[in-house]
Amino acid sequence: MKKSSLLVFVLLITLNLFSQKTYIWCGTLVDGVSEEPKKNMTIVVEKNKIITVQNGFTTAGTSDKTIDLKTKTVTPGWIDMHVHMEFETNPNRYVEVFTSNPADYAFQSVKYAEVTLMAGFTTVRDLGGSGVNISLRNAINKGIIKGPRVYTAGKSIATTGGHADPTNGYRKELMGDPGPAEGVANGAEECRQAVRQRYKDGSDLIKITATGGVLSVAKSGKNPQFFEDEIDAIVKTAKDYGFKVAVHAHGEEGMKRAIRAGVNSIEHGTFMDDEAIELFKKHGTWYVPTITAGKAVGDSAKIPGYYPPVVVPKALETGPQIQKTFAKAYKAGVKIAFGTDAGVYKHGMNWLEFGYMIEAGMTPMDAIRSATISAADLLGEKDKLGSIETGKLADIVAVDGDPLKDAKSFGKVVFVMKDGLVYKQQ
Ligand SMILES: [Zn+2]
Repeated sequence: MKKSSLLVFVLLITLNLFSQKTYIWCGTLVDGVSEEPKKNMTIVVEKNKIITVQNGFTTAGTSDKTIDLKTKTVTPGWIDMHVHMEFETNPNRYVEVFTSNPADYAFQSVKYAEVTLMAGFTTVRDLGGSGVNISLRNAINKGIIKGPRVYTAGKSIATTGGHADPTNGYRKELMGDPGPAEGVANGAEECRQAVRQRYKDGSDLIKITATGGVLSVAKSGKNPQFFEDEIDAIVKTAKDYGFKVAVHAHGEEGMKRAIRAGVNSIEHGTFMDDEAIELFKKHGTWYVPTITAGKAVGDSAKIPGYYPPVVVPKALETGPQIQKTFAKAYKAGVKIAFGTDAGVYKHGMNWLEFGYMIEAGMTPMDAIRSATISAADLLGEKDKLGSIETGKLADIVAVDGDPLKDAKSFGKVVFVMKDGLVYKQQ
């Protein structure tokens, strides 16, 4: 053997000794891409990646680690495409807006992030907060706190008085006149500026509110709130910065304008009609339903004093409709990515959405795919996330029981690995 090849040989052996692998024995594996679950499989993880998936239970080397999930169902880490990490529903929410400082939001978001990860959600899209969600993402990425991988919109963008105008319902002198920096934009020019501000702030994507919403202190929950030239300016500017655009929309007119402008996803989509469904399919736009939030909001609206009076009728009308719309959209073949609007209901209960989707006619396998490979596709991260395949990041969860037969299993998470690190093992 030549001296140089001997050196390479020794180097390879040394590297091998120091790179510990983790062998995960899976009783049942739903990998996110196969049509059927697989029995008795082994996932081999090295550092933060899946290096191979093998048939049977492979014996690990002496320096390696084995995790026994032989009696569990293993899936890719789940992805929730619509959460709000900074807050959580409670009857004092509309007062807290005036009493909370950014640090208050920051501390509570730490708790919500951990709860979300422990519930099996290894990746989320935060679709709007004060901007604290950007620092939250950074703290998680640095390993300072435990939480899912966060793709954040920072502050969402609205028109004046629109759903995400931060001073809706305030008294005059507090209302002021927020602008693009605060996420309020009117006319194409300001819309471009608002997107560029998000880039400067460190957002990962853009979120706009194209129609009225349920929880804002405003009369309509469905009126269109952006003109086509404004949405067009947002989409075009977003493209320059590599941003995807997520759009809050309940009413059909605002939804259609957004789809035609080429946005990536419609959130809620509550009052989509047949024409909207055709537009979704024609443009390949994703639908993120948030059935869980709809139901929770509808229920809370029945508790006297939980919401301001202007919100109650909107919540009662919109809330229960989402699941029906979802059933129709799924049947029609609209592309669906899992999203729940966590924060509007209690963080960590995101898994309820699986049950609601299945109840409305989706197959359990499609429901899992919506929260794995489909969500990864919408994120633009299909090469890294969303399935258990060689080369993907090691985001892996396991549950007790069979989630393909019993939706309650999604609430029985016993194992969570994110980026190759184990966060939960029961
Ligand atoms: Zn939302």
